[in-house]
Amino acid sequence: MARIADEVIGRIKAEVSLERLVETFGVELKKKHGRDEVGRCPFHDDRTPSLVVSPQSNLWHCLGACNTGGSVIDWVMKTQGISFRHAVEILRDDIPALAASAGKPVKHSTAQKMEVLLSEDDEALQLLNPKMK
Ligand SMILES: [Zn+2]
Repeated sequence: MARIADEVIGRIKAEVSLERLVETFGVELKKKHGRDEVGRCPFHDDRTPSLVVSPQSNLWHCLGACNTGGSVIDWVMKTQGISFRHAVEILRDDIPALAASAGKPVKHSTAQKMEVLLSEDDEALQLLNPKMK
């Protein structure tokens, strides 16, 4: 398999909006000190918002139990439970120029795909448990 170019990784980290990915995952972000935004970390039982997202650097960090963080690639790896390479391939499709150079047809954005998956899951759950609602 071909190695993923550093340039591709750099462009993903700079051009894919972390803010949008985080909000698509269902985390409500609020502006706090300076330009950073905070929300409840989805990776641990977070009662006080300890997930910090910086739209300026496009990085996130959990100041609570996780004490971890990273780029959009790390976010997708952790939320989807997938490998670095797989996360890069998904995010690459989010940048039309990169998707085209990889020889792939331009797809809808990753965020939209994830939303569709979530709503389909909800419907499936309601079909399985009609009395739950
Ligand atoms: Zn956390």
